[in-house]
Amino acid sequence: MLPSLVISGATLADGRRVDILIAGETIAAIVPAGQGPADCDRIDATDRLAAPSFVEGHIHLDKTLLGLPFIPHIPGDTVALRIEAEKQLRRTVALPVEERGGRLIEQIAAFGTGSLRSHVDIDTEVGLKGLHALLRLKERYWDLVDIQIVAFPQSGIRIDPGVADLLDAAIREGADLVGGLDPAGIDQDVTGHLDAVFAVAEKHGVGVDIHLHDSGPLGAFELRQIAARTLALGLEGKVAVSHAFALGQIDDFEFFRTAEALANARVAIMTNGPGPVAMPPVKRLREAGVTVFAGSDNIRDAWSPYGDGDLLRRAQIIGYRQEFLADPDLVHAFAMVTEIPAAVLGVTHYGLGPGRRADIVLLDAGSVPEAVAGAPRGRTVIKRGRLVALEGVLTPRD
Ligand SMILES: [Zn+2]
Repeated sequence: MLPSLVISGATLADGRRVDILIAGETIAAIVPAGQGPADCDRIDATDRLAAPSFVEGHIHLDKTLLGLPFIPHIPGDTVALRIEAEKQLRRTVALPVEERGGRLIEQIAAFGTGSLRSHVDIDTEVGLKGLHALLRLKERYWDLVDIQIVAFPQSGIRIDPGVADLLDAAIREGADLVGGLDPAGIDQDVTGHLDAVFAVAEKHGVGVDIHLHDSGPLGAFELRQIAARTLALGLEGKVAVSHAFALGQIDDFEFFRTAEALANARVAIMTNGPGPVAMPPVKRLREAGVTVFAGSDNIRDAWSPYGDGDLLRRAQIIGYRQEFLADPDLVHAFAMVTEIPAAVLGVTHYGLGPGRRADIVLLDAGSVPEAVAGAPRGRTVIKRGRLVALEGVLTPRD
């Protein structure tokens, strides 16, 4: 059988030059360059690096203000003030989540993102409206991205009575994981908050992804509490903590006992390489056996005017902040936006190889380190075996 598409002359991460033969949604074979059949649809990838599509570990499709005129940032530098600012803004924004989130999906698909985990705000004011919008986006854009949804209690759980029931309802209605937020900093009740989150996880057998900004020894204590609950419920490998700034703010004793707890419970850490705050030390955590993956987090929203969702630039930002200079470190930064989040999210049939799904991005670079260093634009993207973006521009969809 002839392949439906051949990517010819591409360079792989290991330096081999190959033709990638695609049949339907799947990579059928990878053969030395020049050996693929000539008489079928072809994309010339000479001098381009072929990589599996990027995997977005943390995004907020419901929060973005893309599609609206630029909205100036409302000042306020604590999490609580930001939550209030966002609520104010949310009441005035006329463009629906589906329009704004759809814009963001189209933008990141053209950068080469093929799968993502989006948090969606759940509180007693917005209810499940954001979730329902994301479920519609998931259906509408099934051909561009695979979407995983975290029911996220952005306004807390204990301080917003009714949210625990909404989180439960969100999972029943299609959210994939249950989220959490600063058990101490926002709810001021570590046990009560984690009881509520893990009760939903246990009841429905779903994973957990908690935003944790709480700092220093308090944040580290919360991380160990999360690890202990993960073990107790047999949720190893299904729990992540996003941000976890505390890991960059504690002494060696605290660090090693916390990292050990996370590694034992296989709790993964998400970082976006944030601005001037401390961030989790990626290499130290890796050496301690802790998985660290990357995500964009806020993109042009009430939390940040910055960001565009390009995960290759995100890898670059993380590498820059962590002083990754040697090639193996740049390769690791790249893994933080590809294979590592793919494993955390449980993306199936991921990677470049026969039988894997044909989710591929072609980059103007000769190697993975060069791609991270330069973050070249104008990418060509294949999703489910179909050309979805050519030289950075989305192709027409049915
Ligand atoms: Zn977030």
